[in-house]
Amino acid sequence: MTAADDSRATGSWRGLPRRLRATVASTWRRSLQVRTVFITIGLSTLAILVIGLYISFSVASNLFQDQRSRVLEVSNNATTAAQLILDSSDAADRGSLQLLMKATLDTVTSIAGTNDVAIFRAPDQPASNNAPPDRLSPDLAGVISPALRAQVQEHSENQYWQSVALGSSSGGSDPGIVVGSGLQVPAGAGRYELYIGYNLAEAQRTLAFMQVTGTVGAIALIALLSAITLVVVRGVIEPIRTTASTSRRLAAGDLGVRIPERGEDELASLAASFNGMADSLQARIRELAELSVMQQRFVSDVSHELRTPLTTIRLAGDVLYGQREDFAGPTARTVELLHTQTERFERLLGDLLEISRYDAGSVKLATEPTNLVHLAGDVIEEMHGLARERGSELRLEAPGGHLDAEVDPRRVRRIVTNLLGNAIEHGEGRPIVIAVDSNASAIALSVRDYGLGMTTEAAERVFDRFWRADPSRVRTIGGTGLGLAISLEDAVAHGGHLDVWSHPGKGSVFRLTLPRSVGAGLEPADAAVVSPLPLEPGDPEAAGPPPTASVGAILPDDDREVHDA
Ligand code: ADP
Repeated sequence: MTAADDSRATGSWRGLPRRLRATVASTWRRSLQVRTVFITIGLSTLAILVIGLYISFSVASNLFQDQRSRVLEVSNNATTAAQLILDSSDAADRGSLQLLMKATLDTVTSIAGTNDVAIFRAPDQPASNNAPPDRLSPDLAGVISPALRAQVQEHSENQYWQSVALGSSSGGSDPGIVVGSGLQVPAGAGRYELYIGYNLAEAQRTLAFMQVTGTVGAIALIALLSAITLVVVRGVIEPIRTTASTSRRLAAGDLGVRIPERGEDELASLAASFNGMADSLQARIRELAELSVMQQRFVSDVSHELRTPLTTIRLAGDVLYGQREDFAGPTARTVELLHTQTERFERLLGDLLEISRYDAGSVKLATEPTNLVHLAGDVIEEMHGLARERGSELRLEAPGGHLDAEVDPRRVRRIVTNLLGNAIEHGEGRPIVIAVDSNASAIALSVRDYGLGMTTEAAERVFDRFWRADPSRVRTIGGTGLGLAISLEDAVAHGGHLDVWSHPGKGSVFRLTLPRSVGAGLEPADAAVVSPLPLEPGDPEAAGPPPTASVGAILPDDDREVHDA
């Protein structure tokens, strides 16, 4: 293929509509069956083409050589017979010489089996009145080349041949051979050149028939090979497909699926080992599930069991705490310590019970139309004192979210309280921005602090139970280490998600995204598309938000215009 052909071929591939090209490319990539069949067709076509061309050329060449040997033999016989007739003649005058020549040529045509005969008197002969005239049959006109004639004139005792195109009966031309030799005519007529033409159309037809038969056979063979490949490949691919779809179902949690085992071949052994693997996986998962249920039940039972003694301790502690001013210094401090630790214990127990409810799948949402901006305002108001203590300004930005969303307000409040508590805890006394916004399908709330922030590894583990970025850090607000784990469960129970962006020294953003109504769940993968608020802040470098006129909590303005989606 030339460079121009190449670029034309590439051009025509480019010219194909894009969708079609993509479909062909993806079918080629994804289907082993299509690839195998096409590669088999391609390679067998190439092999058949090479073998076919070789056979065709060697048959054509053998056929031609056979024909040529036959023609040379026949022509030699005819020339010898002609010379014998001439030699044995006693013709002496012009008339009898002409008759002799005619008889000789008749013998030649009958022995040679062809009417294409020419006879010329050699040009270097002395003039003779007796010499019979030249004869040329019409089919040989213009066919005998000067080169052939020169060879015959030079060595008249030899035979020479030449491939020629002879006129055919249909008006076209047929392949042929012209054989030239010399004849000695008596009575002073001198040397003559004899040319006999043989038409090889018959051999050509035999060859063409053979080629057509060969081509049809080759096409049938390729079709047959393709069909066989398709059947064989399907036989192998089908079990592979079954294995792939079974593993997909297994991965999706359908632990009972198995591959049918048939026969004793390699595919049957693949199915057997796959099924063996699935069996042990199922047994292991069942074991783990049972263990997990046991653990959950244990945590739940322990938490429940601890509740009663803790309530008693709490009541007793409250009594002591109420009278702490009556106690001496160290005793009063001990009573205070008992009080805070009992409170912490209660919170921890509450969180443990909550998480075990999630684990047991027994959580039911109590949804009602809730205004997230108002809810955020309430939480800000509640945490206002704490924030002020830590020197953090709380700021609410609510471009949207003023229309009610169908959520469980208790759980959403718990999430917001936890996020805000964490932001105050880790916010280093810098401002904290709470943003609320919504779109047609979702509502989102984000809490941005400009405090310590976290590394990427820490941010990835932040929703793990009891995980703390720095366990040695003194907790002032009294978190249990389960806050974000419960918040995430709360968000997921709504069909929403909770995401985090954080950078050491640049603070963190926690973003809660909930569907406007439970049931219209959000896929986590769609977070960036669905959430009305960006996760990554536009000001990651800033040590705080741009200043505003007011100081302290900026609470939502109830009179503001509603411009939700
Ligand atoms: P707790 O606050 O009770 O420790 P959480 O689940 O709420 O438990 O938080 C887990 C950990 O995540 C915290 O201990 C803290 O290390 C980290 N964390 C949470 N929020 C922030 C934040 N805004 N900035 C930095 N670290 C945070």
